[in-house]
Amino acid sequence: MSSSSASSYSASDSDLSTSSTGTSVRHSMEQRPVVQVAVIRCLRCARAEEYTTTDDPTSLGMVQIGTNIYYCNRCAKIVGYK
Ligand SMILES: [Zn+2]
Repeated sequence: MSSSSASSYSASDSDLSTSSTGTSVRHSMEQRPVVQVAVIRCLRCARAEEYTTTDDPTSLGMVQIGTNIYYCNRCAKIVGYK
């Protein structure tokens, strides 16, 4: 008599999966001391000494008399810089 229409209700939830771009930020915790090599030159006799930033210029026999200005020990003594 009565024809029941079976309405199939299919709920297809399309979930919005936010695909984040996999940029893995890697925090490198390496603590490597930055060593820079520089050449200091005696202002008077032009004697050059190569030293790294971990070195003390005075240990190479150089005397710093200013910003990037050095005398070697000999010249420092000659000019009376002490
Ligand atoms: Zn010198």
